[in-house]
Amino acid sequence: MRYLILSDIHGNWEALQAVLAHARSKYDRILCCGDLVGYGADPDAVTEWVRDNVASIVRGNHDKAAAGLEDLEWFNPVAKQSALWTQAAMKPENIAYLRDLTKGPEQVNGFQILHGSPLDEDEYVVTERDVEQLAPYLDSEVSFFGHTHLQGGFQCHRNGVVAFGGVDDDAQDRAVELETDVSYLINPGSVGQPRDGDWRAAYAVYQPETRLVTLYRAEYDVASAQKKILKAGLPELLAARLEAGV
Ligand code: ZN
Repeated sequence: MRYLILSDIHGNWEALQAVLAHARSKYDRILCCGDLVGYGADPDAVTEWVRDNVASIVRGNHDKAAAGLEDLEWFNPVAKQSALWTQAAMKPENIAYLRDLTKGPEQVNGFQILHGSPLDEDEYVVTERDVEQLAPYLDSEVSFFGHTHLQGGFQCHRNGVVAFGGVDDDAQDRAVELETDVSYLINPGSVGQPRDGDWRAAYAVYQPETRLVTLYRAEYDVASAQKKILKAGLPELLAARLEAGV
């Protein structure tokens, strides 16, 4: 079984379509680490596609916000404005789907998917130090997470944690061969709003049988996604940041 791992799509239909075209014939089943909506202009289209195509999913903080499950007071002004726009724009049945999404971690065939950290769905896992504190709580040898929009991950050895990065700017993929006696926390990167300085849509494919994770980047039609954001009246910053990947 080959799993296509998606995270942080954020209502970016163009990026999602590019990922699916780029990943064609590389996977059998689709998983999602949350944040289907927020920031982007196509929350309904993305949510409907997820409802029809994703086998296992956990919710993200922006899904909770759109569904009215999150206090928006701690959101920054741009995130808050986009959450309110998303709530108003979406069809009730898609909002209901977001409201019913479960909190991670979710076990999938010997590994797990989650949004923030294994202990807290809203926590940002960024540094090796963050992971050192989590290592005792990693139930699975392999965990996929999102939330930071940074592609890459962490190898947790018995005596320490080692970070690894995502796909190089001049490449389209990076293979990560999983070692034994090591736990992994792996972020496929964000499909719809990368923040690691690479504007290309990010995703990963995992083959448990061969112990291989491949990280990918796919170019997409950023200009169309930006035009839709501006036309929707969403903050201009949300359009501008897409082409910089920040
Ligand atoms: Zn996100």
